[in-house]
Amino acid sequence: NGVGGGGEVYLVTGGSGLLGQALKRVVEASEGGAAKGSSKWVFLSSKDADLRDYESSRRLFDKHRPTHVVHLAAKVGGLFANMADQVGFFRQNMQMNDNIVSLCHDYKVKRAIFCLSTCVFPPSAPMPLTEDSLHSAPPHPSNEGYANAKRMLECLARYYRQQYNDEFVCIIPTNLYGPNDNFNLEEAHVIPALIHKCYLAQQDNQPFVVSGSGKPLRQFLYSDDCARIIYELLRTSSEKLTFNSMMCVGDTEHSIKQVADAIVSAMEFKGEVKYDTSKADGVYKKTASNAILRGFMPKDFTPIPLEEGIRRAVVWFKDNFDKARR
Ligand code: NDP
Repeated sequence: NGVGGGGEVYLVTGGSGLLGQALKRVVEASEGGAAKGSSKWVFLSSKDADLRDYESSRRLFDKHRPTHVVHLAAKVGGLFANMADQVGFFRQNMQMNDNIVSLCHDYKVKRAIFCLSTCVFPPSAPMPLTEDSLHSAPPHPSNEGYANAKRMLECLARYYRQQYNDEFVCIIPTNLYGPNDNFNLEEAHVIPALIHKCYLAQQDNQPFVVSGSGKPLRQFLYSDDCARIIYELLRTSSEKLTFNSMMCVGDTEHSIKQVADAIVSAMEFKGEVKYDTSKADGVYKKTASNAILRGFMPKDFTPIPLEEGIRRAVVWFKDNFDKARR
């Protein structure tokens, strides 16, 4: 059921987002621009259809008749947005996920990939986090609407696989970053937020202020690396899909200070860097295991080093400042 026989139609929801655009780059690099041979890739945005609406979603499936689906669309947001609208994060993600997963089954899609996140795991799960601890305890209360919807997505995909043998697989990325990220200071994850802050500090001749001590450790993954994993999941033989879900994390943990240093270097920022220790650090580390990923990906798969990934994200942000989400 993997890539290759010709005539495949790959439908990517959330195709305009950080990960969707990365997948587009990977496809273009792998298949030489307009998809080689007779396979077709369709990258969707919310302008193509509101996936919360079943009928609009069904029309998309009817129009494109996908053989493969990568479902990346989600209502995502920062801590405050999540806390202020648990209903919205729960319902909108449940609606989109229920529509897309059930349509993948009804339209006999050969293989579909769904997207969870390491941030929906129980805070109490032992480290390193493994795929099987997802449901072992409740999620953190701050994002439980989003987290519970993502957890139900894992259940639904797994139930279809058990009951109907559908080749439905979930990926569980850690912190992704790269071009087309959301750089809005209220909503952004740590890397895009720090890139934006450093950029403003440089423009305004002000110190670059990093929240917290800089000591916490995190695993980051450049968006194109996650896209390479998705591409491999689509290409691989059915026999290699021995897991229902798979963490997508890099090998190395990096401190927030290492992130800030890489941004300073990429931005060629010459001013003062300050750590605001009055701001909370969060947990010191939340290591996730990449054992399944390592067993699955080709041995020569090497994630892009943090410094290089950050350099590319900084270049993109500076070149696209006007159109970037910020
Ligand atoms: P983005 O915010 O960059 O993109 C979200 C995408 O979803 C956009 O293409 C958006 O379309 C689309 N979308 C949102 N609402 C709807 C809707 N109602 N109907 C149709 N399309 C919609 O997200 P990312 O690329 O960062 O995330 C992709 C996936 O990865 C998500 O499932 C997310 O949960 C997951 N993830 C992300 C991580 C990260 O660090 N970024 C970490 C772990 C998991 P439009 O552009 O038109 O608004």
